[in-house]
Amino acid sequence: MPDNTLPFDKINVFLMDVDGVLTGGGIYLGSQEMEFKRFHVHDGMGITLLRAAGLRVGILTGRTSEAVTLRSKELDIDIVYQGSHNKLKGYAYLKERYGFEDHEVLYVGDDIQDIPIMKRVAIPVSVRDGDTEVKRYAAYVTKKRAGDGAIREIANWFLLNRGDYTQIIEKMINQWEEEIAS
Ligand SMILES: [Mg+2]
Repeated sequence: MPDNTLPFDKINVFLMDVDGVLTGGGIYLGSQEMEFKRFHVHDGMGITLLRAAGLRVGILTGRTSEAVTLRSKELDIDIVYQGSHNKLKGYAYLKERYGFEDHEVLYVGDDIQDIPIMKRVAIPVSVRDGDTEVKRYAAYVTKKRAGDGAIREIANWFLLNRGDYTQIIEKMINQWEEEIAS
């Protein structure tokens, strides 16, 4: 059932936290500042779909790791801010740097440091395993868990509600087919 209460057609920026949103929140720390994170391929394809749909996709995280830099490059995520201890400050910086405003942002968070941003954006989303307080501010809470397809679920939910999910899927399939034909 489409949700007509949210401004899906106004959204230009899909911004998300990393730990506990794009990953399950577990952090594997190794020696020499190595940090391992587990990403889900379904989330990766969700980000690809959003980019194919013309959205700018961004990451805003309090931690800093090479793993996030690598994953961002793999997925062509152009808006990346790591080491943002005050998330709202980081968010303000990104708005200034990339030239967007609250009313065109969908933000995905899981913990209380995300709440100040969720209060401001057009569509605030929480993952299923987000903090109870965070869910109070969410317009949508995923059924899937963080790091296990929650971002893909949001991407599908967003595009279905905006009404161009089928066209985007067809566009991507056509692109792949044309690539081997040429
Ligand atoms: Mg988090």
